[in-house]
Amino acid sequence: MATLFEKIRDGEIPSVKIYEDDVCFAILDINPVNKGHALVISKDPVPIFTEIDKGKLDQMIAVARRLDEKMRLSLKADGTNIMINNGPASGQEVPHLHIHVIPRFEKDGKTPIFSKEKYAEGEMDEMGDLLRL
Ligand code: AMP
Repeated sequence: MATLFEKIRDGEIPSVKIYEDDVCFAILDINPVNKGHALVISKDPVPIFTEIDKGKLDQMIAVARRLDEKMRLSLKADGTNIMINNGPASGQEVPHLHIHVIPRFEKDGKTPIFSKEKYAEGEMDEMGDLLRL
């Protein structure tokens, strides 16, 4: 079954499109964290970012970077959140790779996206050993 973003890609569902190339397109999120919240969406309907060709991912990241610059200029954004919900466990609602680019403003009143944990004694070093590349 086609994903929501394939239907948007193919024009079956309307969107406000702000960019398109051979690899990806960008639209405004219908429920923005702040107005101007954009999604850079892969044309390939892969669910997570390890499943897309690395060159294509690089191209999507370059588009997210351009949108960051545009939001600072055109919206006078003070910063951005650039994030990928990568798989259902991360809160991903649409199983089709997309990068959120969210304009942020000093004192915009949005709650932090994540609540944070504390490591027990020694646990951070163990985690470092598990994840060191
Ligand atoms: P995620 O939770 O990372 O999968 O994000 C999916 C995003 O798609 C959410 O932020 C939704 O607000 C957004 N969304 C859902 N339906 C539409 C739509 N028809 N047009 C634009 N954005 C949408």
